[in-house]
Amino acid sequence: MEIIHVSAECYPVAKAGGLGDVVGALPKYQTLAGHTAKVVMPMYRTKFLMENEWEVVHKGYTNLGSWWFIYTVIKEKTNKLGFDLYLIDINGLLDREKIYGYDDDAERFTAFQICVVDWIAAWKHHPDLIHVHDYHAGLIPFMIRYCYRYQQLQRIPTVLTIHNAEYQGWMGWDKSHFIPEWDSWKTGMLEWKNTINPLASAVKCAWKVTTVSHSYLDELRYAANGLEALFEYEKGKCVGILNGIDTKVWDPETDIYIDNHYSIHSNKEGKLKSKKILCERFDLELEKPLIVFIGRLVGEKGADLIPQAIGDSFYYIGRKMNFLILGSGFPNVEYQLEGLRTLSKRDYSIYIGYNESLSHLMYAGADFILMPSRVEPCGLNQMYAMRYGTVPIVRNTGGLRDTVIDYGDEGGYGIRFNNPVVGDITQSVWRAVELYGQEERLDEIRTQIMQLDFSWETSVQQYLDLYQSLIPVK
Ligand code: ADP
Repeated sequence: MEIIHVSAECYPVAKAGGLGDVVGALPKYQTLAGHTAKVVMPMYRTKFLMENEWEVVHKGYTNLGSWWFIYTVIKEKTNKLGFDLYLIDINGLLDREKIYGYDDDAERFTAFQICVVDWIAAWKHHPDLIHVHDYHAGLIPFMIRYCYRYQQLQRIPTVLTIHNAEYQGWMGWDKSHFIPEWDSWKTGMLEWKNTINPLASAVKCAWKVTTVSHSYLDELRYAANGLEALFEYEKGKCVGILNGIDTKVWDPETDIYIDNHYSIHSNKEGKLKSKKILCERFDLELEKPLIVFIGRLVGEKGADLIPQAIGDSFYYIGRKMNFLILGSGFPNVEYQLEGLRTLSKRDYSIYIGYNESLSHLMYAGADFILMPSRVEPCGLNQMYAMRYGTVPIVRNTGGLRDTVIDYGDEGGYGIRFNNPVVGDITQSVWRAVELYGQEERLDEIRTQIMQLDFSWETSVQQYLDLYQSLIPVK
């Protein structure tokens, strides 16, 4: 099969979160399974772009409404990622340092999608399937089906994967002229609650929709940032496929970001060495359990609850643990977490920003990882953490529910709580401190979680079966 993935992120080219990790791994494993998987994404001004060699494979001339422009498609020359990587260059619009967060993101991602479809329409053959990821590629299923310009592509099956339904790419109807002329009877396929909603449109128009865990799919029917009724209506074409993790990148025996490698058998010593580095760097006490948080400091992740949960833990449990935070996000959460530094007695620190290598060191050196998410479509952090022998403390939601069993339950190995509230987090921190005191039990759990299989192989097969069910037999 020839599969085209369209995404705004792809590790290691450009990553803001889990979407990047998944689009950097899934095509690689599809290629290993004998298929041709290609990734198309915007050409941002990234380190990866500067450090690699590229060839121009296509130049085109197209329009976003009345603005006509030249775009270029470039391909990474050496296939070093294990799949074909293509970048779309639109001068001045996409070649910027950040992935998201510009006032003209609607223009940027709409123009990107038009270029992708224009380019595919110029091919001499058709790919077997187009797989779009999240709202940034969400207009493509509509364009292929209903824009006159792309009529010859109508029969190509499309699959949408929802990595996060909180972000939908809403656009006012004043921007509708950006989209190439379509069959006006089909305007409803773009619309949700009086706006153009690219994510809703993709749910309506894609042949199949997947979410990145089973529980998240169930949850979307009652909590989907306004799209609940749509998920209920379209449930027949939706399936949950749990993300895997790239076990080649995330492996404590070979991880390129850490110096002290370790295996299941040497995890105690190996983890301790990384913990020592962290404790020295962030002025923390080595003897205490190290609880970390890695992620976006936003409401979805429950980050706003963390400052008070840390304060309460120190107050009610005592200063028996260290906390280390890595992330950035809402300014008021950053401000409160930054403010906690003044209370630290060598047991709290924070790094505000994005830092890939520090995150790897934290997965390796931490004893526990805290994820008090309100919404967690899949969650990769808990899976990475477990591969590094770090015990997850998670809220019972989405992919966290599907991957973590409480150690109090049969066969369990993590700490799970029900409500995204400070009290539940503090109680879980207390349980973590207790567990840390039971050395033998903790060793058993570490060995158990390092052996759990979250590799991509199973999930890749589920995607391939899904594709196969859509592709007409030739
Ligand atoms: P998200 O909802 O943010 O996509 P996921 O759990 O699916 O959450 O994926 C998060 C990914 O982003 C993980 O690889 C995690 O290590 C990484 N990450 C998040 N924030 C940071 C940060 N500040 N520095 C380094 N890596 C980060």
